[in-house]
Amino acid sequence: MIGSHGDDSVVSESGLVVILGNSFNIKQYACRNMADDVGVDEAFCTSCGTVIKKEAEICPECGTRQQESSKTTAAQIPDQRQYELEKITNKSTGVAITLGILLSPLGYIYLGKWGLGAINFLTLNYLLLGPIIVPIHCYKIMNDAEDELKRAGVEGY
Ligand SMILES: [Zn+2]
Repeated sequence: MIGSHGDDSVVSESGLVVILGNSFNIKQYACRNMADDVGVDEAFCTSCGTVIKKEAEICPECGTRQQESSKTTAAQIPDQRQYELEKITNKSTGVAITLGILLSPLGYIYLGKWGLGAINFLTLNYLLLGPIIVPIHCYKIMNDAEDELKRAGVEGY
């Protein structure tokens, strides 16, 4: 009888400890949520609101996988930009490079880069390193355009 009574009090004691522990956690949680000064590389967990590293995929506090929405939004591009990029990626890499080698400004003009073509022509670069640099640059322009469309989540890239 005495033994069981003793057990009861131990249970209630530990119960109190648990309650105190919980209220402490809640206070800590509330303080963290009220903090507005989030570092540039920090973000709020989408589930529990804890300040976590921006690049963290999973919240170390609650284990919730973070949505990629912020990253996707950052990479999103306006329709006009998407149209221009698609115009470039729809061109033939082979033609761009061939034109770049034959007469370098044409490589740029083929990709719709009239400004670059004009500069290349006016600086007489097509007589110098143009046939080497322009094909590489044209290839890079097309690659970058495709990458940007990929990052923006445009279908088909
Ligand atoms: Zn969390």
